[in-house]
Amino acid sequence: MLGGMQDFELRVPRLIDHAAREHWGREIVSRWADGSETRTTWAGIARDAKKLAQALERMGLKPGDRVATLGMNHSRHLVAWYGAIGMGGVIHTINPRLFDEQLVYIANHAEDRVLIYDKAFQPIVDRLRDQWTSIEQYIVFDGDGASSFEAVIAGEDGNYAWHEGPERDPCMLCYTSGTTGNPKGVLYTHRSTVIHALAEIQPAVFDLDTRAVALPVVPMFHAAAWGLPFAGAAAGIKFVYSAVNDPVVLCDLMNREKVTHSAGVPTVWLAMFQHMDATGAKPEHLQLVTIGGSAAPRAMIERLMKMGIRVNHAWGMTETSPIGTMGARSPDWDDLSFEQRVDQVCRQGRVPFGVELRVVDDEGVVQPRDGVSSGRLQIRGPWIIEQYFQDAGGAAVDADNWFDTGDVSVLHPDGTMQITDRAKDVIKSGGEWISSVDLENCAVGCAGVGEAAAIGVYHPKWDERPILLVVRKPGSEVTADEIQAHLSKHVAKWWLPDEIHFVESLPHTATGKLLKTAIRDQYKDFKLAAA
Ligand code: AMP
Repeated sequence: MLGGMQDFELRVPRLIDHAAREHWGREIVSRWADGSETRTTWAGIARDAKKLAQALERMGLKPGDRVATLGMNHSRHLVAWYGAIGMGGVIHTINPRLFDEQLVYIANHAEDRVLIYDKAFQPIVDRLRDQWTSIEQYIVFDGDGASSFEAVIAGEDGNYAWHEGPERDPCMLCYTSGTTGNPKGVLYTHRSTVIHALAEIQPAVFDLDTRAVALPVVPMFHAAAWGLPFAGAAAGIKFVYSAVNDPVVLCDLMNREKVTHSAGVPTVWLAMFQHMDATGAKPEHLQLVTIGGSAAPRAMIERLMKMGIRVNHAWGMTETSPIGTMGARSPDWDDLSFEQRVDQVCRQGRVPFGVELRVVDDEGVVQPRDGVSSGRLQIRGPWIIEQYFQDAGGAAVDADNWFDTGDVSVLHPDGTMQITDRAKDVIKSGGEWISSVDLENCAVGCAGVGEAAAIGVYHPKWDERPILLVVRKPGSEVTADEIQAHLSKHVAKWWLPDEIHFVESLPHTATGKLLKTAIRDQYKDFKLAAA
């Protein structure tokens, strides 16, 4: 047939080219670990990325080779992403909070050839250097001397044409946090990354345009900072980065730079609230806050909404690039009461165009979208995993490309999705399921409760019964009876924990989630007083 359209491969360098050409002067502000601040622009990021690409080629790197980073959020980390990807390489962001054993495993498994790291992580490098078998070059983002990032790119002229190739080439590698067994690598392609970025800028997702000023608290090593470095370039937004996640620093930066958008896991906002309560300060210009990574407690959503901030509750996984669903305002939003809107936001939102969801029971039977039938959540689409890096764990999807997320959820008739638990975290009592997530979120809504974890412990009659571990807020003397009284207003009687224990702290994963496996291990021989 005569006629047709231009066939451009969807490659990531097009994102940075666009930002540098159309939004060249839009700033990227970095607040470094030592307290200093620097400012560059999208044009500056693109120029330095080209220099880094030249330097990497000079070191002998070839398309497909992995360039690892151990770094917090700052402009040079952004340069590293675009530079490594631009020379045809694969950027591999390593989470510095992982255990040594995992850090060794991941870098060797990925066969990283270069590691670019923050000075703050020098102790990790000193400890593990001998065990990393493939890394040939070490570069320090904020170092001095010949191995510093600035020195490495200083010798290049930036006169460089990005490596071209098929859009299905890989561009980024992220490992799952691996709470059981070895972490598994998820290899994003140029195509999946660009399509995901385009989906993310939509109003119903991150709502980005060039007026947006975003401070992503989510680290660049957690599921590609939720894709923001790519979506931000597509929309030409201003980025404000902080290498430290202290609420005093964040709040001050947000106000000085007039930050409108932020994104992070729930614990980030808990810390911000404590800062607000203690000092009376608050982020004045925030319009949209995205919370994801674990379920956002109702009390948190409510408080942010009362400040006039739109809250996007997002669900996703490293395996889903990571956006699966995002906060959903319904068509009748303006007619809803405040309480009804909070209810709506407590759900994890709906899918943007591109991905599909379904819920299946244990036999694989697809469940109706009735807001009641719960089961395993499955997802498919062009930015969802097909196979783990080096085929770890075998096929990741079924014959129809459905990826089983391991989350338990319900789908509502309006398309919104609600996570009820991780499949392995549900508490099974007398053949019925109790959502540990619901219990925890409800508990943190009780005054004086800082953090809570619900787990199932052995019960001779019911199989499992819930117990609740609670970390009190500083200065609080909240009692078990008060917490039970609060819970009983919100959950069924048989959901109430058999015991409540107060603890000093709870273990977390490297991405700030409750480490349920460790908590369950600790309580595996626990005997209920009344059982
Ligand atoms: P990760 O790949 O480390 O980001 O972990 C993904 C997992 O985090 C998902 O499978 C969920 O269990 C959990 N998760 C992410 N976002 C949410 C959310 N908004 N509510 C509840 N769980 C979430």
